[in-house]
Amino acid sequence: MAALSPLLAQATGVLVDHGAGTTLYAEDGRRYLDFTAGIGVTSTGHCHPRIVEAAREQVGKLIHGQYTTVMHRPLLTLTERLGAVLPDGIDSLFYVNSGSEAIEAALRLTRQATGRPNVIVFHGGFHGRTVAAASMTTSGTRFSAGFSPLMGGVHVAPFPYAYRYGWDEAAATEFCLRELDYLLATLSAPSDTAAFFVEPVLGEGGYVPANAAFLAGLRERADRHGILLVVDEVQTGFGRTGRFWGHDHFGVTPDVLVTAKGLASGFPLSAMAASAELMARAWPGSQGGTYGGNAVACAAALATLDVIADEGLVDNSAVLGERLLDGARAVAKGYEQIGDVRGLGLMVGTEFTDAETARRAQAAAIERGMLLLTCGAHGQVVRMIPPLVVTAEEVDEALEIWSASVAAATA
Ligand code: PMP
Repeated sequence: MAALSPLLAQATGVLVDHGAGTTLYAEDGRRYLDFTAGIGVTSTGHCHPRIVEAAREQVGKLIHGQYTTVMHRPLLTLTERLGAVLPDGIDSLFYVNSGSEAIEAALRLTRQATGRPNVIVFHGGFHGRTVAAASMTTSGTRFSAGFSPLMGGVHVAPFPYAYRYGWDEAAATEFCLRELDYLLATLSAPSDTAAFFVEPVLGEGGYVPANAAFLAGLRERADRHGILLVVDEVQTGFGRTGRFWGHDHFGVTPDVLVTAKGLASGFPLSAMAASAELMARAWPGSQGGTYGGNAVACAAALATLDVIADEGLVDNSAVLGERLLDGARAVAKGYEQIGDVRGLGLMVGTEFTDAETARRAQAAAIERGMLLLTCGAHGQVVRMIPPLVVTAEEVDEALEIWSASVAAATA
């Protein structure tokens, strides 16, 4: 008899049966407040009736219209609709199925468009699991352990993770930009550097928001040297941070935007977006994929955009994100085992001084009926990522559970 591979490390041990809104129901009858949202995917909540209906209707009409063979209306309409929410100058989209694939698409595009081999990524960044994306990932050694050699041409600059530097944000940012200049002057000359890949909020790396001065510094250097600025909005897009895009908080305009998780409420769909002029510099035929732009996923994405707009989910994320962050800070008071609490919108992280206490707090929350994940290089950060449809009452219930969980984990 076959069994699941032990490679599938299980974060919660919960066998789920069905979900509705912010709640997951397990096979054993237990109910969980889901503050993981499928790792930031199910922003409209589990099985939102409008997403279910849109997908159901599309399944009966056309499931798969392979996009290099035939075109279909959901893909065209989605492209038009996304055009309205993308940053200025970004008006061309390319679709694949996962964050990693979209990152690789952006890697190919930026190398081809510039004719330069290198990319610069930032410490603590997570860009995916495929070999190229894993080569660009530095949020933990496990993501590339044992399968070297990795892809070449990747250089790593520091990210202003002020808490870990033990500095204030301004000092950390100044240091990071100086190190970036040093890198450009030594190991990765501008004439060899195609792109910077940066997350507006480090996700897997520990829920660390970037800041305006840092991203302005990247934009300025990109402009000066003809380097492309790629924002990895896989985890931060579609209202997750309280603005439509994570980078909207920081006043920068990227050249390339990569998005996935919140795009289609759980259906596999991701996109790389750039100007048509930049896309035209890619090599024809070098990008594609059998399942990219799946019709059902596109229909679900269209319904997702409607739900986000009609239910005011970006504002809900901003307002309830603040409530959650304030509450998590209040919970942390007095615990020397908690070093920092930070976040943006409905991405809130509590950093423990050691990973073991973080793991115990996560387990205590699960026991009390709330699903949480960890992140950070050692799993020392417990993160809260509820669906954007979360209510104030659910946030307060989560904070009560969290308070009891931290008490139990540190007792
Ligand atoms: N980039 C970021 C910022 C991510 O958070 C993730 C997934 N956690 C990825 C890329 C990779 O996405 P996927 O797992 O869909 O390949």
